[in-house]
Amino acid sequence: MANTRNPADRQLVRALNQSMVLNVVREQGPISRAAIARRTGLSQATVGAIVPALIEQGLVSEGAAPASGVGRPPTLVDLDRDSYNVVGMKLMEDRIVGAITDLEAGTVAQHETELTSLQVPDVVGAATEFVARLLADADLSSDQVLGVGVGLAGVIDAEHGICRSSPFLGWENVPIASLLEERLDVPVRVDNDVNTLALAERWFGVGQGSDNFVVISLGRGVGFSYVANGSVNRGAHGGAGEFGHTVVDASDERCPCGNVGCLEASVGEVGLIARASRVAVALDIPAPATGSALYAAAADVPELRALLTDAGMALGRGIANVVNLFGPDLVIISGEGVEAGDAMLGGLAETVDAHVHSGLRKSYELVVEPLRDEAWARGAASLVLDALFESPMRTTAAHAWQKGGIV
Ligand SMILES: [Zn+2]
Repeated sequence: MANTRNPADRQLVRALNQSMVLNVVREQGPISRAAIARRTGLSQATVGAIVPALIEQGLVSEGAAPASGVGRPPTLVDLDRDSYNVVGMKLMEDRIVGAITDLEAGTVAQHETELTSLQVPDVVGAATEFVARLLADADLSSDQVLGVGVGLAGVIDAEHGICRSSPFLGWENVPIASLLEERLDVPVRVDNDVNTLALAERWFGVGQGSDNFVVISLGRGVGFSYVANGSVNRGAHGGAGEFGHTVVDASDERCPCGNVGCLEASVGEVGLIARASRVAVALDIPAPATGSALYAAAADVPELRALLTDAGMALGRGIANVVNLFGPDLVIISGEGVEAGDAMLGGLAETVDAHVHSGLRKSYELVVEPLRDEAWARGAASLVLDALFESPMRTTAAHAWQKGGIV
């Protein structure tokens, strides 16, 4: 780092140091300049130059700590979480849910609106009105917004902001980020919705202490995101993580994707309700029409409870495969399907453990997280925050590599 040879190198070193300081303040603030220097390994002089620059950008603020006994209270640096805002929204097949957040993904205002058409121009128009409404609710102007993050189900090319394929919306190759940018006049980032949940966990949730973890979302389908070495792994084309369409048993159940025996056919809400309907017909009881109705009915009907237990075991075998393949130290289970409760998830840890390679047992933690209403929107907002907090090394190194090497 000391032998910086040209202005571009020096610029990169400055950006890296600034990113390190910003992240230490985000994770550990309020924190003194001396403690920042210790944590980052930077000199006090370097930290002394970076902190005022971050203050000028409005990202951090500095103030005296509360007095405690003898001596002058130290001056502490903290993230200025209210200086800028971010908008996050999730596009669903029937509605948009969204929120304005501060720099720690804390919700400032939230809103939900129905979508009456899934034609691309109609969705772009509705999303534009939606952002205007959120800004008005929070009494903010668009120049206080760093960017807009959008999460949606499907194969999403996050790098180019293109929805390659989303069966829920019926979209193929829609350049949704640039269409929204033209209307909103702020940077827009787009990603698969479960990837946005993973980013929210990474920066602000239980994933904060982990560089290698997976998020599995249970709902209509089974979503999956894999954070490897601190970054969401999207595969070569944005389609990595079709965990729901892996096969973990010899079931001949038809999946909504058209294949037979997919995990999603056993564990996804659509598949569960189809199976529950057959059980209900055999028992001559009313068929549950929704996941919530099924979970409630399972409390009184052992056959329905057994169906959920079987689903939990299929999920456990699937998760064991994930642990065997990727070796994460944390597996987060989330999504509306977590509502199934103990009937499905009670034996999950044992099933996973029974199928994980012996050398990997006890190497990971399994966390079940109920999904709060605004979590999807906060996740989408985290797409923008990810760009703010991510080390410039990753993007710059990739760029330099493409141009012919870093050396
Ligand atoms: Zn499938």
